[in-house]
Amino acid sequence: MHFLITAGPTREFLDPVRFLSNRSTGKMGFAIADAALRRGHTVDLIAGPVSLPSPPGLSSRIDILSARDLLKAVQDRLPACDVLIMCAAVADWRPKDVASTKLKKSEMNGTLELVRNPDILKTILPQKRLDKQLFVGFAAETGDPQMEGTRKLREKGLDLLVANDVSQPDVGFAVDTNRVLFLTSNQPPRPLPLMSKQQVGDEIIAWAEGHSASI
Ligand code: C5P
Repeated sequence: MHFLITAGPTREFLDPVRFLSNRSTGKMGFAIADAALRRGHTVDLIAGPVSLPSPPGLSSRIDILSARDLLKAVQDRLPACDVLIMCAAVADWRPKDVASTKLKKSEMNGTLELVRNPDILKTILPQKRLDKQLFVGFAAETGDPQMEGTRKLREKGLDLLVANDVSQPDVGFAVDTNRVLFLTSNQPPRPLPLMSKQQVGDEIIAWAEGHSASI
C-alpha cells in the first residue's frame, strides 16, 4: 500500500526570525512512517521542522514550514496514496501580516493580529476517493479524548481518529511513549495500553492493512 504521512509542527512566521508553533517533535509521525516501511509499504513523508533523521527506505521526504505549505504538499501527493495519515500538529492560526525584515520593538504595539489557517483535512475531503482511500487523523486533547475525538472523526470525514490525552506526562508531545484511543464510525472505541510510539505506529498500520479490503 502507498502511505502519505505528515509529521511535526508547522511554523507561522511574523517576520524572518519570529514564529508561532507548538510542542510537536514529529516522533509519532516518524514512528508511523518507520512502521509502514518495516511492513513493506511505500511511504511519502511530509515533515514540519523537526530534528529527526528520515527512516530508511522512504519513497520521498518533503520538508515544509507553514500550514499552507503543508496543504499544498498534501494536495500534490494525495492522488497517488491509498492511506493518508495526518499526524502533523498544524498551527490553527497565523499572523495576518508577515514583515519582510525583522520587526523592531518600536514597531510592535503588543497586539498580534491572527487569521485562521485552512483545516487541511476538511479542505481535501472533497478530493478523497471514497471507495479507494483511507484517511487517519489525530486528536491531542487535554480533556476527554473520546468526546472531542468523535466529533473530529465526523467533521473531518476520517476513517480512524487516534485520540490521546496530552495532559498525561507519559503521553503525547516529545516523549517516546503514547496511550491512544482508536475511534471509528462503526466500531466501539478501542483503548490501547501505554506503549512505545513504534508500537502505536505498528497498530495504526495494522489497522490500515485490515481495512484496505473494505474500501
Ligand atoms: O482540530 P484538531 O487540530 O484537533 O484536529 C487534529 C487533526 O486534524 C490532526 O489529524 C491534524 O493533522 C489535522 N489538522 C488539519 N488541519 C488543521 C489542523 C489540524 O488537517 N488546520
